[in-house]
Amino acid sequence: MAQATTQAIKTEYPYFTEEHDMLRETVKLFSQTEIAPHTEEWDEAGIFPKELFKKAGDLGLFGIRLDPRYGGSGLDWWATAAYLEGLSYSNNGGVAMALMVQSDITLPVLDELGTDEQKEEFLRPAIAGDRMAALGISEPGGGSDVAAIRTRAERQGDEFVISGQKLWITNGTRADFIILAVRTSEERHKGISMVLFPTDVKGFSVGKKLKKVGNLSSDTAELFFDNCRIPARYLLGEEGKGFYYTMYNFQGERLAAAIANVATMERAMEYAIAYGKERKAFGQPIGEFQVWRHRFAEHLTGIEAAKWLTYRAVDLMNHGHKPTREITMAKLFTSDLSQRLLYDCMQIFGGFGYTTEYPISRMWRDARLHTIGAGASEIMKEILVKTEKL
Ligand SMILES: Cc1cc2nc3c(=O)[nH]c(=O)nc-3n(C[C@H](O)[C@H](O)[C@H](O)COP(=O)(O)OP(=O)(O)OC[C@H]3O[C@@H](n4cnc5c(N)ncnc54)[C@H](O)[C@@H]3O)c2cc1C
Repeated sequence: MAQATTQAIKTEYPYFTEEHDMLRETVKLFSQTEIAPHTEEWDEAGIFPKELFKKAGDLGLFGIRLDPRYGGSGLDWWATAAYLEGLSYSNNGGVAMALMVQSDITLPVLDELGTDEQKEEFLRPAIAGDRMAALGISEPGGGSDVAAIRTRAERQGDEFVISGQKLWITNGTRADFIILAVRTSEERHKGISMVLFPTDVKGFSVGKKLKKVGNLSSDTAELFFDNCRIPARYLLGEEGKGFYYTMYNFQGERLAAAIANVATMERAMEYAIAYGKERKAFGQPIGEFQVWRHRFAEHLTGIEAAKWLTYRAVDLMNHGHKPTREITMAKLFTSDLSQRLLYDCMQIFGGFGYTTEYPISRMWRDARLHTIGAGASEIMKEILVKTEKL
């Protein structure tokens, strides 16, 4: 009978090549040198310097999977995973979110739906980091319920005339253009279209920059459109298909969010475990109390499960599928787990964790968005009700 071995099986993620690993290291270095040292200052200011986008563009971070004809790298989803994992070392959820809006939330839509002319005008400079993009879907009366949006675009000859309001728009105070969801007819779902909206158009204005609980370095804005005229050639894709494009695009956004959530949890655990070794109480390191060892063991198990669920979705995506079921599960699971995990990671710091001097409080605040942004956890469950025919 074969002897049972006590040696742990080394966990390997067989998907990453040397090129992916190098990309992760490059982004990690960029995050540690160009972002992390400035986090406190930028959180305080409520904004980061726009030049950071140029630096990210120069490194090729905005076009990882996108068309090389417009400056993209045409890489796969594992490259995106490596990029987002590297970005978790920024210790700045706000900047990470702002960069992700460009790399994984706006530009893939343009890459997929844009005409050559539109890509030349908008995609090329955005991949280079010369232009900042935002995605304008949500409104005061329509966040989870995307089909409730009311911002109107009326066709007048060769132009669209746009009036309405958007809310919660990341990069909104400084974006050079917005990929905007507008209502082109009264039909609830089939009445929504997408347009490219340059923000230097007359009648456009930025309202409040919203004061938030977390992701403080990034701006989240209220936007107003008062009879703004844009050329009809800025229609993105087909008229009336905006709702379906949005639902489709959510898949990439949610998968990117799940990857980032896992990476955030890993960073928080590393930090909490290190603190548990260093801080003593009752004559021993806190992390050696059994309750903490068990908590860490539990959370490391959670992270491993979250990672495999997420990587499964990445793998399917990489093979050309749009695995709504797996992406939804990954977004739901990683978002919910991160709440419990960050709570515990903060707890081990005791009073120090409750101060803003220790990065763990920022990580905890920033992570609170996970169950709300890119579709609330309740919406993820509603989607699964449909995919699982419950
Ligand atoms: C920091 C930040 C950045 C953002 N960036 C952007 C951006 O760049 N572009 C953009 O377009 N939007 C952005 N958003 C908007 C975000 O996508 C919405 O906040 C989110 O979709 C939820 O919409 P809502 O806030 O209107 O909440 P609501 O739709 O009012 O939902 C509130 C709560 O109601 C519950 N709920 C809603 N529907 C259901 C249901 N069917 N079943 C059960 N419960 C339900 C959920 O618990 C949900 O959390 C951002 C939001 C934040 C906070």
